[in-house]
Amino acid sequence: MPLLHVPTIYVLMLSAMVLLGALTFFAWLQNRAVRALAWWSGAVLVMAVALGLLCLRGTIPDVYSVDLAYVVLFTACALMLEGARCFEGKRPSPAALLAGALVWIAACQIPALYDSATARMIIVSAAVGLYSFGCAYVLWSGRAEPLLSRWPLIVLTALGGGLFLVRIPLAVISPLAEAPIASFDALRSFWFAIVSTATLLYFIAINYLFLALTKERSELAHKRASMTDALTGLANRRAFMEFAEKRLNAPASGTVAFLIFDLDRFKAINDGHGHSMGDRVLRLFAHTLSANLPRESIAGRLGGEEFAAIVSGPDQQTTIAAAERVRESFAAAARVVGGVPIAATVSIGLAHANDPPADIEALCERADKALYQAKALGRNRVESAVDELIPLAPDASVEADPLIPSPKRARRAMKRAAA
Ligand code: GH3
Ligand code: MG
Ligand code: MG
Repeated sequence: MPLLHVPTIYVLMLSAMVLLGALTFFAWLQNRAVRALAWWSGAVLVMAVALGLLCLRGTIPDVYSVDLAYVVLFTACALMLEGARCFEGKRPSPAALLAGALVWIAACQIPALYDSATARMIIVSAAVGLYSFGCAYVLWSGRAEPLLSRWPLIVLTALGGGLFLVRIPLAVISPLAEAPIASFDALRSFWFAIVSTATLLYFIAINYLFLALTKERSELAHKRASMTDALTGLANRRAFMEFAEKRLNAPASGTVAFLIFDLDRFKAINDGHGHSMGDRVLRLFAHTLSANLPRESIAGRLGGEEFAAIVSGPDQQTTIAAAERVRESFAAAARVVGGVPIAATVSIGLAHANDPPADIEALCERADKALYQAKALGRNRVESAVDELIPLAPDASVEADPLIPSPKRARRAMKRAAA
């Protein structure tokens, strides 16, 4: 291969590896909270040192180009594994970090292993293969987190590991030609240069994917934060409306209801017990809501002490029953909060979506009117929108607001207001 100058290939490869490691280190400097990047950049830089030592085989003493080179190489693989573990929130494992290097140091003390090209190849393949597979496994274990770059990275690390491991049975079936270590001149070996270049390309690919992975995670965190209500952890108004619209437009069997919840006389809780108690009650309500709605429901905080949910069920009675369950559970849970008698309650307005799918704004408006009615009828109750087919369930346990003499009149007033 006269066109390729092997030492030049090594110089280019090593420069590229160092640059790659330095850029990853720079990425970590920009965002130090992502410690996995520090491990990963360490892995690339240490790998550059290992490849540099291996390239000089035949030129420098074996103790550096073989004994030390593999200690450094296995440490680089271990650092990569630690990077993946750190990314998945696992603690560093000193055992995993040192295992490869220690096995190699031990093997170097046994002449039968050290002097056999086949035995050396098996040890090297096993260590690199297991570390790569370890990486793939750790990333696989975190697959519940929806990050796109995770998948090509798992495939590449598993493939890299597989290529090394498959060499073991091959070496057992047809052992390598035995030759003294010193007789190998890496600076003249074209194939060794090709393998080193392939290693560089592999590192460029996995490094790019790892950087993409950390970026995707931070983007996902920002997106989640922008859709979440910080106090309660529920969807915020914008996210809830978005989810709700999607749910309403999705084909569904049975019935779908829009529920609006408004805590009763909440201002009095703030005024009487302080804002932090108010916040505590809001969190308690959010928890009660999530715990008592059917599984596939969507819940969110619209703002202040107002919440909303989309609930589906086989019929209208089921969705009304779900609303009643939330109301009753909250009244029970908020009777005493942190040892303080609070007796917080919630009023709920409910509107069923008609077939074909209802416009979300119109549905919200109807549920809001029903909520207004629940307030007018004495609070701590569930009311369905006035044009619902389902008759309103009388709630004997709640006293009517003295300002509104009868439910009938309130309903008539609602109709007049809607007209
Ligand atoms: P009603 O039964 O008619 O709904 O009366 P209300 O007192 O619940 O309604 P009002 O709208 O008068 O009061 C709502 C209060 O909610 C006023 C506001 O200070 C309080 N609030 C809004 N957001 C928060 C919050 O994040 N934390 C706390 N602690 N209070 C909040
Ligand atoms: Mg309100
Ligand atoms: Mg209120």
